[in-house]
Amino acid sequence: MAEIELRNVDKHFGPVHVIRDVGLTVKDKEFVVFLGPSGCGKTTTLRAIAGLEDIDSGDILIDGKPVQTLRAAERDVAFVFQNYALYPHLTVYENMAFPLRAVRMNRAEIDTTVRSVAGSLGINHLLKRRPSALSGGDMQRVAIGRSLVRRPKGILLDEPIGSLDAKLRETMRVELKRLHVENGSTSVYVTHDQVEAMALADRIVVMHEGILQQLGTPADVYEYPANMFVAQFVGSPVMNMKTADIREAAGRVQVGLDGTAVAFDFPAELAGKLSAANVQKDKLMLGVRPEGVLISRDAKDGYVQLVAGIIEPLGSHDIVDLKVGDGILRARTKSAFVSASGQKVWARIDPGQAHFFDVTSGISLG
Ligand code: ATP
Repeated sequence: MAEIELRNVDKHFGPVHVIRDVGLTVKDKEFVVFLGPSGCGKTTTLRAIAGLEDIDSGDILIDGKPVQTLRAAERDVAFVFQNYALYPHLTVYENMAFPLRAVRMNRAEIDTTVRSVAGSLGINHLLKRRPSALSGGDMQRVAIGRSLVRRPKGILLDEPIGSLDAKLRETMRVELKRLHVENGSTSVYVTHDQVEAMALADRIVVMHEGILQQLGTPADVYEYPANMFVAQFVGSPVMNMKTADIREAAGRVQVGLDGTAVAFDFPAELAGKLSAANVQKDKLMLGVRPEGVLISRDAKDGYVQLVAGIIEPLGSHDIVDLKVGDGILRARTKSAFVSASGQKVWARIDPGQAHFFDVTSGISLG
C-alpha cells in the first residue's frame, strides 16, 4: 500500500511562486504523470515529495502519514534522475547493489535481488560494465534498476527518458509501462512531452505556473479540457482556437469565426447554454481539434465552402489548413483526401467535438 497525498502545498524560490496551493492524491499502484511546460513547477513538486526540497506550507503524506519531518532516505520512495546519476567508478552490479549495501542486506540476498531486477530490465549481460561503457538507454535502465532494488513504496521519475533519441524513447516508454504493471509500485512521473504523458499515465496532472490546471485520465484531459491552457497544451497538432460569435436568425444558430463571414451551424440549444454561462459576447472562444473539423469534397447540406491552404501529409493521415479570413482552421483528413493547396472543399464543425471557453478566465463552458 502506498498512497501519496499533497494538501495545499505551496513553495517559493525567493520571489518566484513555484507551487501554488497544490492538492492531489496519487492512489496505491497508480501511475500519475505531471505534465506541463518548462518552469511550471513539476520537478520542484516531485522533489518535494522525495524530500529533496522543503515546502513553505501544506502537507505531504505517504500512506496517510505526514513526511515533512522525515529525511529523503526515510520516506521509502526512490528518485530516478534524468541525468541517471550513476556512480562512474562502480560497475552496473555495484551501482545497483549500492542502496542494498547501505541498508546492510546480506551478500546472498543482494546478489539475488540485483540479478532478478536486472533480469526484468534485460540488463543482466551488462552487470560487469562501468557506466561509461553503456548506451543512454542502458544507463537509464540501470538507474531505474537501482531505484527498484529496495522495492520502495513509490517511484518518482524526473523526465527519465528525456535525453534519449525519439526511437529509444518509444521503446523505453513501453518498458516503463510494463515494469510498472509488473512491480505495481505507485509512480509519479514528470515530463513536458504530452505524448509520453498520454501513453504512460493512469491519470495526468496538467500544471502551469505552479497551479494544478486539471487532474484526470488521459481521455478526460484530451476530450474535456478544463480550460484553454489544457486544451492547447494537450494534443498534437494543437486545438484550433477561434474567437466565436453566436448568430441567431430564423430559428438557426450559427457560430462565426474570428469576425469573418465564415459561420458554422450548431444545434439551437447552444445559444441558451452560452447565454446561461453569462460570458461577454466578444469574450467567447471556440476550440475544436482538427479531427472535429469534417470535410467533404462536394457541396453538402450544413457544410461551408472553404479553400485549402498548406497540406501536411503525415503517412496515416493529412492535416489540411483551411483559410478563414487571415487565419486558418486545421482539419484532419484521410491521406490525400484533399489533393492540392487552393482546392475548394466543404467543411463543418462537429458540434459534439466543439468546446467553448470564456477568454477572460480561460475556463471551459463545456
Ligand atoms: P523543467 O522541465 O524545465 O525542469 P519544471 O516544470 O520542472 O521545469 P521546476 O524545475 O520545478 O519546473 O522550476 C520551477 C521554477 O522554479 C522555475 O522558474 C525555476 O527557474 C525555479 N527554480 C527551480 N529550482 C530552483 C532553485 N533551486 N532556486 C531558485 N529557483 C529555482
